[in-house]
Amino acid sequence: MSTEATLLERCESKCELCSSQTTLSPFVVTPHTQVTVDHAIMLCDTCKTQIENPESMDVNHWRCLNESMWSQVAPVQVMAWRQLKRLSAEGWAQDLLDMMYLEEDVAKWAELGLDENNRKHVDCHGAPLEKGDTVTIIKDLPVKGSSMVVKQGTMVRNIGLAQDDPDLFSGKVEGQSMWLRCEYCRKK
Ligand SMILES: [Zn+2]
Repeated sequence: MSTEATLLERCESKCELCSSQTTLSPFVVTPHTQVTVDHAIMLCDTCKTQIENPESMDVNHWRCLNESMWSQVAPVQVMAWRQLKRLSAEGWAQDLLDMMYLEEDVAKWAELGLDENNRKHVDCHGAPLEKGDTVTIIKDLPVKGSSMVVKQGTMVRNIGLAQDDPDLFSGKVEGQSMWLRCEYCRKK
């Protein structure tokens, strides 16, 4: 049986977080990258979209975790825990978190991904950076592998953000594209 078929059988064709019976697709629970029975869960589009875009999160949708957090399936427990953690400003979510019990290795897995998902690109004062922002460099930065120094006070326009590293942004200085560290810039 294919992995997806096994997953579909496990979830009884219901979203493993909210039980909705719409179209489901496998979702790999980070830091894993492969769809396997042990590392993936079946999710509806609503859950998936909101997990991938936390800013569009509909708090009430996640009351479904009330039930799915008791799942016996480790990757479901991990995602339920991570979502509750994101929502922990809500009293009910914190209450559920307090009730939740994770085996040690599952708890480790849950926390591992949380950091990654939560870390955002921020400047030296912790202000969130966005693609297209203009920033000022706050100290002289030697450029690796060259004699060039990016001087303190240099403005970098239209920055890009490293997808896989919340510490780095890209920009052009004197016509040269380079990666710079977010901690050494200040948002305009
Ligand atoms: Zn769902």
